Amino acid sequence: MAQSVQSDSGRSIVHTERVGRVKYTYYDDGVVKITRYKAKKKIYWGRIFAALCMLMILMMGFIQLGKSLKKAVKGSRTEIQVNNSMPEFVMSGSDNTTQTSASGTPDDAEVRAEAEKGQLYSNMNIRVCIDPGHGDYDTGTVAGDGIVEAEQNLEISLLIRDYLESCGVVVTMTRESDVSVSLSDRCSIANENGCDFFVSMHRNSVSDTSSDYSGIEAWVNNKAPEYDTALAQNILTKLDEAGVSDDHGVKYGYRDMPGNNYQVNMDTVMPSCLLELGFVTSEQDNELFLNKKQKYAEAVGNAIIETAIQLGVISESGERLLSGQLISEGKNNVYITDAYAKSGELKFVTGINDAGNDPQR
Ligand SMILES: [Zn+2]
Repeated sequence: MAQSVQSDSGRSIVHTERVGRVKYTYYDDGVVKITRYKAKKKIYWGRIFAALCMLMILMMGFIQLGKSLKKAVKGSRTEIQVNNSMPEFVMSGSDNTTQTSASGTPDDAEVRAEAEKGQLYSNMNIRVCIDPGHGDYDTGTVAGDGIVEAEQNLEISLLIRDYLESCGVVVTMTRESDVSVSLSDRCSIANENGCDFFVSMHRNSVSDTSSDYSGIEAWVNNKAPEYDTALAQNILTKLDEAGVSDDHGVKYGYRDMPGNNYQVNMDTVMPSCLLELGFVTSEQDNELFLNKKQKYAEAVGNAIIETAIQLGVISESGERLLSGQLISEGKNNVYITDAYAKSGELKFVTGINDAGNDPQR
């Protein structure tokens, strides 16, 4: 581009040239004027608008995420816990929800800690009696390798107590140390404390110690009361999930004397069962008991709570629905026969197992 025009100052422009934002003006007297043009600031309104939109979307996303997380912690504790650590304790209704702790909404750490313990519940408003079989001079079965049934009954019972208490359950123990408690006192303790459930903990045995007979079973009153049967069946199911050598199922009455009952299943007013948690004479069962006692305790505890929910004693969040104590209908009028009294006496004196030492059925 070249020009030759008259300027106002009297000199003539001979040439102008523009390179980028600089304009060079050449005058006839040799002067070169340099003019710099400022860059035009272009405002990209479209881009600003798009960025604002993105920011809005992101913020709404965060708000939504926050809400979802809060909801997940508050409402689906069971789901979180099951996913995290204890798939074997998944409840039959997968949408079980539990109440938050009394102190308010639990934080993530609390929920995780409970999940690690395998705890599925809190604030479960029921009363449970746990009865560790035998005690003191009534040792129950003493197996060849130094296993004393009464001691193991107490050990597992205390674990069940601790687990249930961590779920907010009020637990009554018939004994918490190596002492002797009569069968009628055990029943009275449960009845007088208004317990909703009674579970007597035992370990089984066979007289032929070379036998490899093994497995679990639960004894219920021979009138097969519905609630007692549900309790026993739920316990066996949960123990199965935790891992047992065999499950002999729910049994009614007294071993080899179906017309009779274990006294704890007769003189207790609430649903009850007597659990035989494997054989002390079975190497396999002893190893399982040793390795799984915590899981067994949680299985028994969860089964009791699940039964309470199933029978409408409490809601899934543990809220009490039943006004009084849960009563098992129709099991309390069984006549105590001489045969029962004798077998009871025999057991008591010799300390052999609760089943007359005969596993054959
Ligand atoms: Zn026993």
